[in-house]
Amino acid sequence: MKDFTQSDIKRMAASKLVPATTPVRQITIGKPRMEMKDGKAFQWCTISIADIVKEVYFSVDEEYGQYLCHERGDAYLIGLLNFAMRERCNIHSEAPLTGELVHQIQTELIASVVTYSQGLYAPVITGALSDEPLPSAQKVATGCSCGVDSLNAIKCMCENLDGRFKPDYLVVNNVGAYTSGGKLYADKYDQNAENARQCAKELGIPLIVTDSNFSEAIPQKHLLTHVYSSSFAVYMLRKLWHRYYYASPGTRIQDRFKIVHNDYLPPCQYDLIALPAFSISQLRICNESITMSRFEKMRNIADYPIAHKYLSVCLKQGKGHCGTCAKCKRTLWILDALGKLDNFAGIFDIAAYRAKRTHYLQNLYIAYRKGVGMTEDSYAILNKEISPFSKLVAWGKQALRMFR
Ligand SMILES: [Zn+2]
Repeated sequence: MKDFTQSDIKRMAASKLVPATTPVRQITIGKPRMEMKDGKAFQWCTISIADIVKEVYFSVDEEYGQYLCHERGDAYLIGLLNFAMRERCNIHSEAPLTGELVHQIQTELIASVVTYSQGLYAPVITGALSDEPLPSAQKVATGCSCGVDSLNAIKCMCENLDGRFKPDYLVVNNVGAYTSGGKLYADKYDQNAENARQCAKELGIPLIVTDSNFSEAIPQKHLLTHVYSSSFAVYMLRKLWHRYYYASPGTRIQDRFKIVHNDYLPPCQYDLIALPAFSISQLRICNESITMSRFEKMRNIADYPIAHKYLSVCLKQGKGHCGTCAKCKRTLWILDALGKLDNFAGIFDIAAYRAKRTHYLQNLYIAYRKGVGMTEDSYAILNKEISPFSKLVAWGKQALRMFR
């Protein structure tokens, strides 16, 4: 059996495009198979990419096994679509595909994404089509990564006066967020899943923790494919959901939407097209808090006791918040601007932040001047506290770093 070469994996993990001269290859999605083992329900599927064969699994606790959708190849079609566009592959499914889904993917998503790309390929999708409804428990769910977007989504949904759209379930998926270069950082996933378990327990909402080797078997850069891989996980449990709320990324849609030259754009920039294309009459994937910025979301959860205990933004391995990575710093700047640092003293070292506040604000000034995203609102408030001398020192340090 042939496998991807190291250069293949490097290219795929960076989601780079194969040259346009590369012959078109075929991806074949096999018929999904179910297996019960050690209290877990597994769905296995053989994915053939030319002469390379991968066995992909997706698992849930046994009680949710009945909702794993083995009747359709839809989940795999969605999960492999961006890969196929970059790798110049057509897609054939041996299991039936949902007709309206294929129609929308072809006429809305592929048509837009490929037309406005520089070099993506328009995959031909083949397989039997079926629009026969499947049994569905008609539940509502959202993710529970416990990041700012996730906790804001949970809070907004729980406070929604229309009770039909409150979350019946929270979900943690392992489909790319914890994988880099085809390598899974299992400790980080386990820690986040445990944090989500505690959070969901306190909220009184059941949590479903799923597992999959999809991101290891098919290496892709998560930043450039997360809408596809997350929707793959949603469709795996298609028979459980009626609505799945996908938290928007923290940039207002009017600032975010972009489709031109999308080859190297995160797909959330064109989620206004992608999520409706991935929605069918039985299952809608919704864009949650579509018009809220990260600053507005943080303000919304700043007095939310759940966030004070379970917010998790750090990029580094290990428990707790380092206070120094890009996401920790961005969160601390926003909390400082909002005057809400003390609310988060249980999960951030606020004393350390205050001791080095001048340094942190110099970092904010440099980040803002460099155009780092999501710093504008914090800078607009904290700017008056950064003296001209402090800004000068910040630039001096920056210059020294460049010459080192
Ligand atoms: Zn950190």
